[in-house]
Amino acid sequence: MKINTAEFVISNSKVAKCPNSPLPEYAFIGRSNVGKSSLINMLTGRKSLAKTSAKPGKTQLINHFLINKNWHLVDLPGYGYAKVSKSEKRVFQRFITAYFEERKQLVCAFVLIDSRHKPQKIDMEFMQWLGENAIPFGLIFTKTDKLKPKELEKNILNYQEEMLQVWEEMPHFFITSSTSKTGGEDILEFIENLNNEVTE
Ligand code: GDP
Repeated sequence: MKINTAEFVISNSKVAKCPNSPLPEYAFIGRSNVGKSSLINMLTGRKSLAKTSAKPGKTQLINHFLINKNWHLVDLPGYGYAKVSKSEKRVFQRFITAYFEERKQLVCAFVLIDSRHKPQKIDMEFMQWLGENAIPFGLIFTKTDKLKPKELEKNILNYQEEMLQVWEEMPHFFITSSTSKTGGEDILEFIENLNNEVTE
């Protein structure tokens, strides 16, 4: 898919205020600093559609972008744990879970993972939560230019091994670098195929 137009639509702190539109949407999420803004800018071919390196603790917003006038790309804030009072149970921010529970237009979420790191508990728990809530998702490994090819291969294999301890099969995954501008086309093709399926 070639991106012809990419327009900012709206930023929201409430799911209820997200665009009232039937267009299919795709959400991008991950821990802060994972490279999400850079990836969105690479995918859309825009230098600063998504704001890179915003300060941690900034207001958490759901940002909608309209792509090619026929689907929404959603930039979600980084997830973290919210402590439930009087309980040791860990839950994700209500704001994030509300988006996934309520947004019927969501076709697929993309969970971004820094390819340099070992599987992190919070990412694994978040994917577990998505699975339990029957929310389709893919994985995007970021910043792969920072690793030597052998190291990258090892990390991806290791990640797959850990995923397969809890998942029957590996979700779709993509290997990207916003700096080297690689992996974006695969993601766009994946989205295009899903768009064709949902609009059939
Ligand atoms: P966000 O907080 O997830 O939106 O992450 P950003 O896109 O703002 O990126 C965080 C930092 O990682 C910035 O300093 C980026 O320049 C850097 N970064 C993001 N993507 C890449 C990448 O593919 N390769 C390299 N080398 N650095 C990256």
